[in-house]
Amino acid sequence: LTGLSIGVDLGGTKVRTAIVDSEGHIVDSDRSLISGHRDPFSITRHISEWVVERLATKADKALCLGVGVAGQIDHARGIVRYAPNLDWKDVPLGAQLQKATGLPTVVVNDVRAATYGEWIHGSARNANNAICLFVGTGIGGGIIADGHLIEGCSNSAGELGHLTLVSGGRQCSCPNRGCLEAYASGWAIAQRAREAASADLVSAQSLIRLAGTIDKIDARVLAEALRSGDTFASNVIDETSQYLAAGITGIVNAFNPCMLILGGGIINGFPEFISRIEAHVHKHSLFAAVAPLKIVTAALGDAAGVVGAATFAKHVFEGN
Ligand SMILES: [Zn+2]
Repeated sequence: LTGLSIGVDLGGTKVRTAIVDSEGHIVDSDRSLISGHRDPFSITRHISEWVVERLATKADKALCLGVGVAGQIDHARGIVRYAPNLDWKDVPLGAQLQKATGLPTVVVNDVRAATYGEWIHGSARNANNAICLFVGTGIGGGIIADGHLIEGCSNSAGELGHLTLVSGGRQCSCPNRGCLEAYASGWAIAQRAREAASADLVSAQSLIRLAGTIDKIDARVLAEALRSGDTFASNVIDETSQYLAAGITGIVNAFNPCMLILGGGIINGFPEFISRIEAHVHKHSLFAAVAPLKIVTAALGDAAGVVGAATFAKHVFEGN
């Protein structure tokens, strides 16, 4: 059992923990919902109890702990600067977990951890230049450039969802308007579909009937309507794929990746996005930037975060 490390993926609503071997395989794992107590003390205790219990048994050779958190992270100091979903500010999570578990601990952003997982053990294995774009409720990303995970000046590089697509466009969840996320994320797709349905009740009638009310139209209902041949849903999804492809064209021109890895709930829900994006991106990107590009789906699914956090920790502490 040598080469084991422990990964944690801490989102706004759930925490996933796993023991991961040096090949990226999950040896043991657990997931639980965060209900009620989101304070750092409760969550740190929950994680450390699971870890300490495992250390006493099969994972006694695990050497380190990596934690991916949805938020802004100062990973040199192990501090969660700001995690809006958890309502945390300046939480010294690394030091607290290190003290509670006895394991050297590193804290990283959750999407960067997932990118690291896809890079070392997933779809981007052996690629020195790769971009991961995760399209779910929000849009996040990670950049592998010339064999390094790009972190930026203050660890926030990779926020590809907040590239401006339309100057002065739709209000984003961030202070900006017109971000890619404001058009193509799960929340934005729902918002755009509800607005379009309100503006054209006749064309949207079968979609509205399927949802129950306009307010209940979301990406899941759109996917269901699309499968039954609904034209209104199909138009919303066509537009969404165009926004995504336009954003990705800019990303490809800027970074010249060998591989673009697409993942997240929206990509899984609308697999047709892949071929549409591929066609658009190959047609509209600079030839030199796009010629070697392969577009593929993420391989690790929702395990990318724990596998990536564990692997990142192993590489930080073991230097390989
Ligand atoms: Zn934004």
